[in-house]
Amino acid sequence: MESHKSAFLTFDDGPSPFTPAILDILKQYQAPATFFMCGKNIERYPETAKRVKQEGHAVGNHAYSHIFWKTVTGYGMAQEINKTDKIIKNTIGETPTLFRAPWGIVNPRSKLTAQQLHYEIYQWNISALDWLQPVITYGYMRKRVLSHTRPGAILLFHDGHGTYRHMIRKKTVALVAELIPYLQKEGYTFRLLPEKENLIPDL
Ligand SMILES: [Zn+2]
Repeated sequence: MESHKSAFLTFDDGPSPFTPAILDILKQYQAPATFFMCGKNIERYPETAKRVKQEGHAVGNHAYSHIFWKTVTGYGMAQEINKTDKIIKNTIGETPTLFRAPWGIVNPRSKLTAQQLHYEIYQWNISALDWLQPVITYGYMRKRVLSHTRPGAILLFHDGHGTYRHMIRKKTVALVAELIPYLQKEGYTFRLLPEKENLIPDL
């Protein structure tokens, strides 16, 4: 059946030990997603980064260390982005073109630096707020995503947490497992960034 409703699944801060479970779900439902990875995490889990690419998903640059982006100089931003650019090329053999600013901070310096390095910035419309685990409840995250998803939405989930090693993403995995078949049943098709058509303004 032809569907006209599409949405974009995006995952930030990986790869992590929870990424493979998310990839299994995406494979099960044939849902493509875009992963904005931190260079430091790719160094830790290169095989997972390769798997993301091999299974047809898109890989974007999310800086190297997830440093607090607001106070970083333009030079510092360029270093973070370039380092990750190289790691992505060396690990998955592809030159990334998508960038998502750490902490969601898109200030003029961040925009200019990304542009100079030939990146396009993609933020999101709807955050599951899953980075607030373990405090946030599953029900709240679920309601938040389901009640706001509209055609063209860029949904944000987290398979990591900055470059911390000890994060738990069980609720993200469970949410994705419930959400994808639900939205597909509602007629949604998931697509890879950077297809821009039908994008909606931020919520
Ligand atoms: Zn992030």
